[in-house]
Amino acid sequence: QAKQNKYDNFQVIRLQEKPETGRSLALKADLKRAFANDELELYFQPKVDLHSFKIVGAECLLRWNHPLDGIIVPGSFIEAAESYNMMNEVGYWVLERAFHSAMLLEGLGLDIQVSVNISPTQLYDSKFVAKVKRLAGLYRVNLANIELELTEDVALSNSLLVKRQLGQIKALGLSIAVDDFGKGYSNLAYIRDIELDTIKIDKTFVMGLDRNPVNKAIIQASQLIAGALGCKVIAEGIESVEHLHALREIGIDKGQGFLFSKAVPFERLVELIHTDLMVGDSLAYRNRTG
Ligand code: C2E
Ligand code: MG
Ligand code: MG
Ligand code: MG
Repeated sequence: QAKQNKYDNFQVIRLQEKPETGRSLALKADLKRAFANDELELYFQPKVDLHSFKIVGAECLLRWNHPLDGIIVPGSFIEAAESYNMMNEVGYWVLERAFHSAMLLEGLGLDIQVSVNISPTQLYDSKFVAKVKRLAGLYRVNLANIELELTEDVALSNSLLVKRQLGQIKALGLSIAVDDFGKGYSNLAYIRDIELDTIKIDKTFVMGLDRNPVNKAIIQASQLIAGALGCKVIAEGIESVEHLHALREIGIDKGQGFLFSKAVPFERLVELIHTDLMVGDSLAYRNRTG
């Protein structure tokens, strides 16, 4: 009889993992180097009041300033960071940058909410709340101005650990948003269980407003749910004046999208806040003339 190999269990686990191809190994090494060499950067996309066009917040979005390929958006590398177990570390780095930026904005006398995307991996880390507390102690900002954006699957998860940590985060005074609302296949009933501050309507519904009336209905339904929960609504993916008008008609009063600004470096965000928007002239003009 074959002797039980002490690595048998280990091998079972290994086999279930994604095989590491040459390409993925290269990306892994590249990502580790990027992280060690400060190639990751945080950009900021303004969130705008859809009537005054004032900037009321900014979403932190991760960028990889690759030495050869230039600025890379997170689509592919976040997933890679997840699968290489780097997301906790990268996520904490992002969170610290967000606190730091919030402190700088506060120091400039600006009351701007800073939103951070939090990966499910971070919320399933039982030390997450301790990490947030640590940053809160270091940066001493108005914690209501730090908003965590969570995807539906984690925000509306039935995990006791996640629910407990979200409760503690709220108790600390941070704000919580459900990102990409309507896009997941949520346990919508669990939306009663967390104290949400904001529902963030997924950009596919906004961008599809002129194509299919169901998109408008979904946005209206999201707004009804938000009303019942006593939380705010924001729309993402506003690319055109038509989107803007349609959303205003529905009664949505905050949004973000390329119509206003893409994600920009911190210094540019501050400039945009001070020059009182960007779209400013052209959009105001277009509004006046029809
Ligand atoms: P998200 O959180 O839903 O962020 C919004 C995404 O929509 C951003 O893409 C933004 O650039 C893009 N966007 C904004 N306005 C428009 C628009 O008008 N039209 C179109 N077509 N797109 C628009 P980005 O920066 O590529 O990020 C993609 C996703 O990567 C994010 O989606 C978020 O889920 C994730 N992500 C980004 N940064 C981080 C991070 O620091 N941590 C974690 N865990 N995830 C992040
Ligand atoms: Mg987001
Ligand atoms: Mg989103
Ligand atoms: Mg999205």
